[in-house]
Amino acid sequence: MNKKREPELLVIALGGNALIRKGQAGTIEEQFANLQVPMQQVARLSRDYRIVITHGNGPQVGNLLLQQESCSEVPRLPLEILVAQTQGQLGYMIESTLDSEFMKSGEEAGKNLVSLISYVVVAESDPAFKRPSKPVGPTYPGDAAASLPWPVVKTAGGYRRVVASPKPVTIVEKREIRKLVELDFIVICCGGGGIPVTREGRSFHGVDAVIDKDLASARLGTEVGADVLVIATDVEGAALDFGRPAQRFLRHMTPPQAEGWLREGQFAAGSMGPKVEAAVQFVREGGKRAVITSLEAIGEAVAGTAGTEIS
Ligand code: ADP
Ligand code: MG
Repeated sequence: MNKKREPELLVIALGGNALIRKGQAGTIEEQFANLQVPMQQVARLSRDYRIVITHGNGPQVGNLLLQQESCSEVPRLPLEILVAQTQGQLGYMIESTLDSEFMKSGEEAGKNLVSLISYVVVAESDPAFKRPSKPVGPTYPGDAAASLPWPVVKTAGGYRRVVASPKPVTIVEKREIRKLVELDFIVICCGGGGIPVTREGRSFHGVDAVIDKDLASARLGTEVGADVLVIATDVEGAALDFGRPAQRFLRHMTPPQAEGWLREGQFAAGSMGPKVEAAVQFVREGGKRAVITSLEAIGEAVAGTAGTEIS
């Protein structure tokens, strides 16, 4: 039988720094310029792979929160709505940058792109709701923080609001995403980890929380049957003794090794920790491999010559 083999499906999760690099003001020109780096590679990879793109939204949602804080003339919007706004904003930016890359390389024909507003179910019983831990939005001086209507945490620069970061249970649009992939679309979805919703009988309700985008990407990867999860960030991979003289980047780890190092605290909570956790979860649930890599080396990481592979 002459059955053509389906190309492998990649879920590529872009870190917040794909748009705003450390030290930049985050102008729209900077964000579009930064996006070219991963999108050139996505355009190249799309010749041989099917691709779903997810992305973070930390700096963008932070800016929206700050804008809200600076204006009392319009009603404040809850976090779920701000996450939805950033999905639209970043979906447009990613899609148009990728489209331009295709046009530059003369490959526009046959490349279908779509960005999807996506919501992600979380459990009301998730223990994260009892102890909000994820800092979001602007930094407040101590006296201002005391009168805020939310829980806050003390950080290096001052106080910040904290919200719950519950685990993603399921991606609501998983069937649609799978269908679009089958139709040969590159799908941009689950931005900012997805709009968090709880399910009550037959209806969904948005909740004031944020979902970790790496964990949401792993869940999505499992639910759409992805082969490879690529987590692209601002370091070349996961390191042991990170930031210390003995620092060494890992080329490969097995899930049990990764879990051991996670327990030892080698991968910081809120940054590298959830990436390693997401990679392990994806592989344990049937994914072929996951790789944590820099935004510059997405192509090499898929080829197996860069990054930290978990398999
Ligand atoms: P993203 O926006 O891509 O999710 P994060 O800032 O959340 O990026 O995570 C990447 C950061 O994780 C790196 O910039 C690095 O400072 C930090 N990090 C913490 N522990 C480690 C580790 N063990 N190995 C590599 N990077 C680590
Ligand atoms: Mg992160």
